[in-house]
Amino acid sequence: MSNYWNNRVKNLSPYIPGEQPREKQFIKLNTNENPYPPSPKVLEAIQQVLSAGPSAGDRLRLYPDPECRELREAVAARYGVKYGQVFAGNGSDEVLAFAFGAFFNSDSHTAIPPSGRRILFPDITYSFYPVYAGLWDVPFRTVPVREDFSIDYKEYLVPAGGVIFPNPNAPTGRALPPDEILRIAAYQEKQKKVLIVDEAYAAFGAAIYGALSVVSAIDEHPNLLTVHTLSKSASLAGLRVGFAIGNEGLIEGLCRIRDGFNSYTVDRLAQAGAAAAIRDTAYYDGITQKVIATRELAASVLRKMDFTVIPSGANFLFIRSPKKSGPELFAALRERGILVRHFNKPRIADFLRVSIGTDKDMDTFLAACIEIEDRE
Ligand code: PMP
Repeated sequence: MSNYWNNRVKNLSPYIPGEQPREKQFIKLNTNENPYPPSPKVLEAIQQVLSAGPSAGDRLRLYPDPECRELREAVAARYGVKYGQVFAGNGSDEVLAFAFGAFFNSDSHTAIPPSGRRILFPDITYSFYPVYAGLWDVPFRTVPVREDFSIDYKEYLVPAGGVIFPNPNAPTGRALPPDEILRIAAYQEKQKKVLIVDEAYAAFGAAIYGALSVVSAIDEHPNLLTVHTLSKSASLAGLRVGFAIGNEGLIEGLCRIRDGFNSYTVDRLAQAGAAAAIRDTAYYDGITQKVIATRELAASVLRKMDFTVIPSGANFLFIRSPKKSGPELFAALRERGILVRHFNKPRIADFLRVSIGTDKDMDTFLAACIEIEDRE
């Protein structure tokens, strides 16, 4: 706390990211990173930037392309959309923050805004959403998910300031079928409101409803913005690249916010590496299938141990022990060098979110669970 803080900073409750331990010996299953390395083509592309020019690193003298052309072209080709329907940013967190600023109205002048002006998101969801709402003064209402953590799309067919949720949802991993999402899009379109679908984990959900992504519907729904990240399925959390796909008007809105803030949010190495990743679908399809297979195996072992395991379309499992509380199991795993994520929040305090690691990591995790559960 400092006397120099303005009211915005004083009132902000910042997001708390998962722990990034300095010690190497932890098995890290706490921030949904991919356990496999990125495509070798990503490293080649970054190396090419570094070695281009008369001397090593010469390209770093120059600002990167503010339009992120190569990257956006790669995304457009991969998803079958137009170049003008793609926005790129410094991680999808930045893209989401810009989207809150661009499409959801602030209501700081009214003490209790009428319900129709509040944006909606689930009560159990990505905990950055209320932070962005706080940052931009956007009033919101959380909509309870059902007992089984599924989202009831009908709850979002009401007047609101806009809607946002991840599909699959985080930290539950539960997915909503695309046709239900499009009903929300159609309803909110009539109200002239934006629906943001955060597809951070959609690549891992393909086996559930065919393809989970609603990108192919952006031409029918000019109010639908899909947000994507290279941090999970592309194994590039360290590079910080995310993107959005939506109607050209929405993309222009995001560019306006970005250019009211910082024109060069995606650096030269990140643009080159991300474009190479987007193009290498064969490599990434392979590692995504491995993560899905490991997830299903781990889920079946945990169910045999009487754990509650929420059906997951993501690269993590949301689980509850039959015997231990959330904090107890979290602490016992940590003692054994395994980091998972616990959210000390109503309804989910006894659950843990476990990112899918390699088969070997998951064997160690499962063996630790068996040992902990057997102990009194
Ligand atoms: N959306 C969801 C639902 C997430 O879980 C995350 C990861 N914390 C993000 C967005 C942000 O990902 P990144 O900024 O690494 O692209």
